[in-house]
Amino acid sequence: MDCKLKAKHCGGCPLLGLDYSAQLKQKEDKVRALVGRYGPVDPIRGMAEPWHYRNKVISTFAPAAGGKLTSGIYAANSHKVLPVESCLLQDEVLDKTMEAVRAAANACRYQPYNEDKGTGLLRHCLLRRGVATGQVMVVLVTAQPVLPGAKNFVKALLAEAEKRGVTVTTVVQNLNSRKTSVVLGEAEKVLYGKGYILDTLCGRTYALSPRSFYQVNPVQTEVLYGLAVEAAQLTGREVVLDAYCGIGTIGLTAAGQAKQVVGVELNRDAVQDAIGNARHNGVKNARFFAADATRWISEAAQEGERADVIFMDPPREGSTPQFLQSVVQMAPRRVVYVSCNPETLARDLALLTQKGYRVDRSTPVDMFPHTEHIEVVCALSRVDAGGKKHAGRRSGKG
Ligand code: SAH
Repeated sequence: MDCKLKAKHCGGCPLLGLDYSAQLKQKEDKVRALVGRYGPVDPIRGMAEPWHYRNKVISTFAPAAGGKLTSGIYAANSHKVLPVESCLLQDEVLDKTMEAVRAAANACRYQPYNEDKGTGLLRHCLLRRGVATGQVMVVLVTAQPVLPGAKNFVKALLAEAEKRGVTVTTVVQNLNSRKTSVVLGEAEKVLYGKGYILDTLCGRTYALSPRSFYQVNPVQTEVLYGLAVEAAQLTGREVVLDAYCGIGTIGLTAAGQAKQVVGVELNRDAVQDAIGNARHNGVKNARFFAADATRWISEAAQEGERADVIFMDPPREGSTPQFLQSVVQMAPRRVVYVSCNPETLARDLALLTQKGYRVDRSTPVDMFPHTEHIEVVCALSRVDAGGKKHAGRRSGKG
């Protein structure tokens, strides 16, 4: 497969030159080399259709000929915007939505923001689609608080989208007046709809607002969470910890098969989302805490709290020795480590396997075809748990 953006140093798909099957083999081999010594590595779970999987797009506005604006992405290692009309990774509905945004912005004579001079209005556009619900969110990031003729813009956008067969669910203006490469600013104004969209994943419904963290490949996220929950072997009696829980998706997916779920996450907005997600889904046995995972689990372990299963899904830098030590102290029967970096996974497994855990299996999942990223679900169990019955251990605090 070729892409004309590649020759222009887009940099978004470094593996595009390799057949998809060769990409999968390369990723599986890498996981085997890094974690194969701890236990068996299952074949990688690839996508049947590894294209247009991204449910989120961020476009940056730039000037085009004739005083108009265009939009696209920064070329690799530069601040030059490469105009993008279509992308092999993005949801095609979002390509069309972006086309409609450009048409409406040009009709309203909006000017792109100029980073160096600090002039102009439109900085970025963030688009999101709930692939299961078909709902589409448009977030227009502006450098100034006033979007002149906002009502006309919305009207033009809905009409331009409709022409392209797209129904826009909500439109939000986000104000980012700072000199920064961070996309979203602090202030937000809903211009149309409710300011969020809904999506469903593994049987749960999630409300996504502009800044909610959400996995970008919904097809493979269901594969990933399915493997994670399966590895936990829940019976309905377990106390489950979901560490680094984001908006609570893994814990909420597991909650129907557990006695109690406790989620811990550093990002406060994500924790608020997780609490809302539990409520909207009628999940009553899940609680979420905003805290550093290491600090939280160390305190819990010291206070004698127990968990039967610990899910952990840390960022690329992996977990910390102190977190892992506290896991060992809490002595869950199973640990399910979801990793987005097999190198830090291998490092963390070295500690867990020295302290009484064995790796039952590791399954790589290709969440990001054509890029170098690899996700792994690693199922561990406590060695001395053996064949013994685990009689629904109670949480220390009841
Ligand atoms: N399990 C979630 C999120 C995984 S991404 C999902 O599947 O969507 C990793 C998460 O770890 C992010 O939400 C990030 O905010 C969080 N995180 C990063 N450092 C952390 C820390 N020290 N303590 C707790 N959470 C942390």
